[in-house]
Amino acid sequence: MGVSGSRGHCYTWRVMTEYEPVIGLEVHAQIRTRSKMFCGCPADYHDAPPNSHVCPVCLALPGSLPVINREAVRAVIMTGLALRATIAEHTKFDRKNYTYPDLMKGYQISQYDLPICTGGYLEFDLDGQTKRVGITRVHLEEDVAKLFHRIDPATGEPYSLVDVNRSGVPLMEMVGEPDIRSAEEARQYLMKYRAILQFLGVSEGNMEEGNFRCDANVSIRPKGSREYGTKVEVKNMNSFRAVYRALQFELERQARLLDGGKRVAQETRGWVEERGETVSMRSKEHAHDYRYFPEPDLPPLHISRAWVSEIAERTPELPDEKRARYVTHYGLSAYDAAMLTLAPATARFFEGVLEAGGDGRAAAIAKPAANWIITEFGRLLNDTRTQIEESNVKPAHLAELIGLIEQNVIGTAQAKTAFEEMFRSGKTAKAVVDELGLRQITDSGALADSVRQAIAQYPQAVDDFRKGKDAASKFLVGQVMKLTKGKANPTVVAQVVKEQLEALR
Ligand SMILES: [Zn+2]
Repeated sequence: MGVSGSRGHCYTWRVMTEYEPVIGLEVHAQIRTRSKMFCGCPADYHDAPPNSHVCPVCLALPGSLPVINREAVRAVIMTGLALRATIAEHTKFDRKNYTYPDLMKGYQISQYDLPICTGGYLEFDLDGQTKRVGITRVHLEEDVAKLFHRIDPATGEPYSLVDVNRSGVPLMEMVGEPDIRSAEEARQYLMKYRAILQFLGVSEGNMEEGNFRCDANVSIRPKGSREYGTKVEVKNMNSFRAVYRALQFELERQARLLDGGKRVAQETRGWVEERGETVSMRSKEHAHDYRYFPEPDLPPLHISRAWVSEIAERTPELPDEKRARYVTHYGLSAYDAAMLTLAPATARFFEGVLEAGGDGRAAAIAKPAANWIITEFGRLLNDTRTQIEESNVKPAHLAELIGLIEQNVIGTAQAKTAFEEMFRSGKTAKAVVDELGLRQITDSGALADSVRQAIAQYPQAVDDFRKGKDAASKFLVGQVMKLTKGKANPTVVAQVVKEQLEALR
């Protein structure tokens, strides 16, 4: 049974009022480099045939020697700087030994006691408050092979396939402090971390595709207690929504156990999306001893301060910096600025619209541009599951549309119609406005007939106006808008209506 109905709500409430959730996340992000972490195999294995990106180094065949990928180290340093972490001068790689089919080598090259980054913090906004979560460490390791679990249709026997293309792809592990206090905080924290990695260009951050993965350590304790409860590790969460649902489920499950006088077992649980619950995978009593020892095939790594400063100087603008700039330079609201800086593609689109708008006009079109991107555009992208960078609408198209509205060529209603057509067809704003005949009628002479027609049709409105009812003229404006199928400029209509009514007084 999933958490639903009144029972679930009751426990959501109990978790909030009686208990304090304590959540720490471990996030693995694949680093976007050309080659793998310790060899020359291509790191990008999208669309590659299984087991095609492989060499003696990824398989640790005897006699092969790994070489550290400098670009991957640079990416971790850049991430550490963004998280205000301390970048180690002396760091090293270690072997983490375990046997599992996804690890043909029998060990994974990782970092144990001397990670590249330690300390630091990540901040995110929730309900108008800035929340800070401490960072324990960020280290570099290699990804493992991918397993595909199948069932033989003939015998019904389960079997697994191994694809080593992913083996050795640079993987950055970030371990956070257990400062997170709710499932929603966990989701916001993760989204913020992903945004930072995407803005830095170090990772794609795609949870569904598995290049951004998260495990959580979850426990609860009675409110006010200083001791930690027994923690449960939750795995297999493949989307931000899954993280939220899995943690919410787990917190409620633990609260029910404690309420019932039972104890929480220390174990690893996996989130099962279809069932909406976490299930036990293994108890911690069988925890591995990884027998870490320094990687004998790699020298310790010295990170010079000069290199760190060089990386700091070349770090791209971070989402928080961008957001602050949008508020101070363009007068956007904090909310709009935050929405536009959730992902680099959105920020790029917004900045593209300002650029296309022309010199010195950025501040003037920033607000309408933000509105269009967040509301109409956002809705259409969502409805059609389209990424903004893949949309038919280009920044220059939106800049043109905003220009047409400013110049009163089209009204708001027509602009929405035009935008939908632009989104569908990829045509420019001007082309769509002409094709659909959306141009506004702003000529008072051309509108005079429609106004006369409306007045003749509704003599009562004229009487009302004479009696001093202002609503009467508004009513007539509405009728003229109907007669012109919304194409009349309402300001001009109001003016003509007023003139004709005054003449009849
Ligand atoms: Zn290789």
